[in-house]
Amino acid sequence: MNACKNEPVSGVACSGGIGIGNVVLLREYPVKKDAPRGGDPQLEIERLKEAAQKYKAHTLLLADKVEAKLGRTDADIIRSHIAIAEDPEANMLVRKLISSGQSAEEAVSGVSRIYFNMFQNSEDPLLSQRTADILDIRDSLLDILTDGIQYGQYAEGSVLAGKNIPPSLVSGLLDGKIAGIVSENGNETSHCAILAKALRIPMVSGIGNIYDVVSKDDKIIVDGTAGEIIIEPDEDTVLLYEKRRKEYTDKISRLREFAGKETKTVDGCKLSILCNISGINDLRKVKASDGEGIGLFRTEMLFMASPKAPAEEEQFSIYKSVVLQMDGKPLVIRTLDAGGDKEIPYLDFPEEENPFLGIRGIRFSLKEQKLFRTQLRAILRASAYGDIKILIPMISCVEELVSVKEIVKEIKTGLDKEGIAYKKDIQTGCMIETPSAALMADELAKEADFFAVGTNDLIQYTMCADRGNSSVSYLYSAMQPAVLRLLKGICSAAGSRGIGVCICGESAANSMLLPVYLALGIKTLSVNPDAVLELRENISKWSLSDAERKAESVFDMSTEEEIYAYLSNLRVN
Ligand code: PEP
Ligand code: MG
Repeated sequence: MNACKNEPVSGVACSGGIGIGNVVLLREYPVKKDAPRGGDPQLEIERLKEAAQKYKAHTLLLADKVEAKLGRTDADIIRSHIAIAEDPEANMLVRKLISSGQSAEEAVSGVSRIYFNMFQNSEDPLLSQRTADILDIRDSLLDILTDGIQYGQYAEGSVLAGKNIPPSLVSGLLDGKIAGIVSENGNETSHCAILAKALRIPMVSGIGNIYDVVSKDDKIIVDGTAGEIIIEPDEDTVLLYEKRRKEYTDKISRLREFAGKETKTVDGCKLSILCNISGINDLRKVKASDGEGIGLFRTEMLFMASPKAPAEEEQFSIYKSVVLQMDGKPLVIRTLDAGGDKEIPYLDFPEEENPFLGIRGIRFSLKEQKLFRTQLRAILRASAYGDIKILIPMISCVEELVSVKEIVKEIKTGLDKEGIAYKKDIQTGCMIETPSAALMADELAKEADFFAVGTNDLIQYTMCADRGNSSVSYLYSAMQPAVLRLLKGICSAAGSRGIGVCICGESAANSMLLPVYLALGIKTLSVNPDAVLELRENISKWSLSDAERKAESVFDMSTEEEIYAYLSNLRVN
């Protein structure tokens, strides 16, 4: 029995949408009783061999089905399990345990436990998330060894709930019967979540003590967009969520029509919608949402996720892998933007009263040049493999950009001497996110190959309103006339020098501001991957001439209230 009937229980949003159904509880780890000890080792090894062959055949079949429905990348997740199951070291260990008198089941369980613990304790978040894969493989092998049925038949509208949901189980759910998934472990980047997203099954993870919270056959609502579940909802709640589910599915199918299409206005003006990412894991989202490239790779997340600064080789292989996966589409790599609210414990930051106004972004990189040069070398080397551009954060005066260019030049000379390839004409862009950079845009445009407007910071520094402080959030708006006037100046300076402007702050996806961006001649917007298709739809509704005619007047308005009221009326037209 659960204590929270009809009350939302918060978890982690893993796969969007709303599912309503009845709970099917999945087995809790450890799921199988190990077979009794003392079999004939030769016989046990034969049983294991046979089970491993069946497992491989079944998994390959499953992967083919997934590939037919979802494509290669998702199928490869399933295929990767075969490689793990065939790992020679693990197999040697299993055989050793069998030779010492254990049954095949015991040996599989024992070795899985060793790998599970090793992965769980790993400092690498990617490895620690792979624990679910280990459990998945173990359970499949044990199922086969004990003649169990892993890929169960579920009734229409079932919501799977369990501590860990194995990815192979999710990939077996191609018949569309599953209404949702709820788990205790896992997050948005776990394989189960990735597959759930691809199959459009709403999923919420992070529900602590799941076996106390949900019970078998409970009616349940899974709101995978909000990251909430509601157990035993009353009739009104069900009606409300049925309505929301319909709205969500209508919107998704409407937006899917925009995947694979060009981004252009009614009168044929083409734009590019790029994506903001923080790491290689986000690429899946970029591809799923049909992003046209990466407009902002926030590399500080690589530094934050690591116990020490990632070495040149490590960074190089990440940047190279990302650009290769972009298949010729642009990749804008922003150099480390540490400082402010982005603390990196192992870096040597001074104690500061106002870290947002202190050693942040390029100020830190120019101070700690060894780190900066390592990163630039890694970026330059990776640029031999695709369309990479360098982006410099927190520029507040021309001298900073000039110094950066000098350093880039020196590194290029070094690479030339070593005969290492890089993109000779690589572009260096400048973030415009401080008022001083905006005011000096005409001078910066002489040095920069492109501008990326970071409205998140530009608003905070222009309005002197901390972006994270809710008590001044009334001032923090991209529709403040001061911010829009700066934006106009930036675009006009860039226009006179013929360099491109991309907006990469959150306001890039703001549909009310879209006519303003169009009127200012902005052709590139970089947004969260989830926002791509909606933005493409919005762009398709506007004509450039209409936007120019209608948006021009906002630059003469004197208050945010006036601009907001005006633009919200334009939106409904
Ligand atoms: C910005 O300031 O708008 C921006 C894109 O950078 P960040 O949010 O990483 O500071
Ligand atoms: Mg910024």
